[in-house]
Amino acid sequence: MQLDMLLVRAAERLARAGSPSPRLDAEVLLCHVLGVERTWLYTWGDRMAPTFQRARFEALVAARVAGHPVAYLTGEREFWGLVLATSPHTLIPRPDTETLVEVLLGLADETSGRLLDLGTGTGAIALAFASERPGWQALGIDRVSEAVALAESNARRLGIANVRFLVSDWFSAVAQQRFALIAANPPYIDADDPHLAQGDVRFEPRSALVALESGLADLRHIAECAVGHLVPGGWLALEHGHDQAAAVRELLEARGYGDVASRRDLGGQERVTFGRRPDQ
Ligand code: GLN
Repeated sequence: MQLDMLLVRAAERLARAGSPSPRLDAEVLLCHVLGVERTWLYTWGDRMAPTFQRARFEALVAARVAGHPVAYLTGEREFWGLVLATSPHTLIPRPDTETLVEVLLGLADETSGRLLDLGTGTGAIALAFASERPGWQALGIDRVSEAVALAESNARRLGIANVRFLVSDWFSAVAQQRFALIAANPPYIDADDPHLAQGDVRFEPRSALVALESGLADLRHIAECAVGHLVPGGWLALEHGHDQAAAVRELLEARGYGDVASRRDLGGQERVTFGRRPDQ
């Protein structure tokens, strides 16, 4: 069967299974099996698919029909123009989080400094920031050692040298250290949120998604602890749920952070809130 026809059939199956992006899923999975870029498919779609590659493709489509995220099936996802390895131990990097990277770059006006990324997962935030600010040192920490190993291998493969990763339960392994910027995309979804029963999140680690206190517990903990880990004038920037911006601004203001503001993601939702260290 020709590649074009394989794609049409796979996209139909994926659409019936409820994928929000059936054609794209089919193209990404086929490219993964063939080891080609998507533009290659547009030129060579009339070629025949070799039997063994077709069988591998069908197996991946079946897994996707069963709901598995494309990024786990291919083992990678692009974030900030960087191709990152992903694994079921980590959250899949999302375009929304690029808003947090933009905010961090806007706050990093010095030529050098130190950034801490809490709950780094694949390393997405630390790697994107470090790639744009070669004079800075980024440190990504995660409680999950598999995540730290994955983030380290991402840094090596991408050749990003000004970043380190460390196993740490929030601030425990950096007790004495201070940073000019602290960033986090922590768990912030309420355990009863119906969103958790749909799509890719069903396969992602719940520990990266769900937090107590209507999703605000980890955001609050970080806002409290970060005060002691920021240099004077340093900034804390937090990703949060689309309906949590007012609550997070309040968390920061109640603890004395200054110049508190929120930024919208590409979908128009308030997604990131940041503030300057309280004067002590
Ligand atoms: N934004 C993600 C989602 O809604 C959740 C990420 C997180 O909890 N940190 O699926």
